[in-house]
Amino acid sequence: NVDHVIMDETAIRRALTRIAHEIIEKNKGIEGCMLVGIRTRGVFLAKRLAERLEEIEGTEIPWGEIDVTTYRDDRASLEKVDVLTQPIPDQNMLGKKIILFDDVLYTGRTIRAAMDAIMDCGRPESIQLAVLADRGHRELPIRADFIGKNVPTSKSEEIEVLLTEYDGQDQVRIIQK
Ligand code: 5GP
Ligand code: MG
Repeated sequence: NVDHVIMDETAIRRALTRIAHEIIEKNKGIEGCMLVGIRTRGVFLAKRLAERLEEIEGTEIPWGEIDVTTYRDDRASLEKVDVLTQPIPDQNMLGKKIILFDDVLYTGRTIRAAMDAIMDCGRPESIQLAVLADRGHRELPIRADFIGKNVPTSKSEEIEVLLTEYDGQDQVRIIQK
């Protein structure tokens, strides 16, 4: 239903451009920064953001991906396997300013788990969080530093994030579960 589209391709592109500028402003450049996308769609967002940052700043920013499914504290298995699905450049986050990117922020449990996984890769200087959509309902004291769009939702609603690389189109919409 088109009535429930909350971000189209243009809105997503503009949000990423704004977030890129916010990151540059907050960090006074991108020196020492590393982007880490959370699987699945956070990885595509991190890659797009890396490209945007490189265009603006004219320097490269390392980026990688992380899969924290097994770290989630509300899952049956607490086994820590398959955390780094693709080596993050130089595997070492020691002293880096890590910028996590996920598609949707909800309870905060995924981000808590991601922070755990990152701490296992060395002590970063800082961890910042970017999300395309913040749908509220936090269960932990976690907030995002960079937000594409705040989307107040009821718990019976869900945000559908479609990205061209994975879904063939760029769109964010609210659906009734
Ligand atoms: P949390 O761990 O904060 O409860 O949930 C965030 C994680 O679950 C993110 O990785 C996100 O991909 C997924 N998630 C939670 N709620 C939604 C939603 O409404 N839509 C989408 N697309 N993903 C969600
Ligand atoms: Mg996810």
